[in-house]
Amino acid sequence: MKKRRGLLIGRFQPFHKGHLFVVEKILEEVDEIIIGIGSAQKSHTLENPFTAGERIMMIAKSLFENGINKTFYIIPIPDVNNNAIWVSHVKSLTPPFDVVYSGNPLVKRLFKEAGVEVKTPPLYNRKLYSGTEIRRRMITNDDWQSLVPKAVVSVIEEIDGVNRLKDLLKSDKI
Ligand code: ATP
Ligand code: MG
Repeated sequence: MKKRRGLLIGRFQPFHKGHLFVVEKILEEVDEIIIGIGSAQKSHTLENPFTAGERIMMIAKSLFENGINKTFYIIPIPDVNNNAIWVSHVKSLTPPFDVVYSGNPLVKRLFKEAGVEVKTPPLYNRKLYSGTEIRRRMITNDDWQSLVPKAVVSVIEEIDGVNRLKDLLKSDKI
C-alpha cells in the first residue's frame, strides 16, 4: 500500500521535548515523517545559533534515542525570501508528502493555497517547551537541559553551544 507521509517544518533552534512529542503524535497518523529544517542557511545568531548540520544531529539522535521505529527524513530547507514560490521550493527538496503539520499561520496559509492538506498539531507545555525559552535559559545559566531530549544535551555540549550563544551576546565595544 502507498505510504502516507507527513511534513513537519520548524527551525529547531534547538530541537526540544515539544518537538519530540509532536513527532510522536504525527507518527500515529502517518507511515513516514519528513522533518524540514527551516532557515537552514542560518547559524551563529542569537535567534538561530545552530547550523543545519548540528540540528540534523540533534533530531536524528533524539529520534533514535526515543525508539522511533518509522522512517524519517531530515531535510534542510534554506530560506528563499519569496513566499509565492516557497511551497514549490519545499517540494523540490523533500520526498513527496500528503499532509503538512504546522502551527504557523503563514506556513498554513501558503500550503492551503497550494492545495495541500494542513493540520495543526497540539501544543505541549508551550511555555516551557519553546526554543526561545531554552535559548534564554542557556544565556542565564538556568536549567535548559530538562527541556530537551538527552541527545540534544550531548550535541550542544559537543559543539560548545552554550558558550557560542554567550559569545554572540558580546559586543566589540568596551
Ligand atoms: P522559537 O521560539 O525559536 O520559535 P519553537 O519552540 O517555536 O522555537 P520552532 O522550530 O519554531 O520551535 O517550531 C516549529 C513547530 O514545532 C511549531 O510551529 C509548532 O508547530 C511545533 N512546536 C513547537 N513547540 C511545540 C510544543 N511545545 N508542543 C508541540 N509542538 C510544538
Ligand atoms: Mg517558533
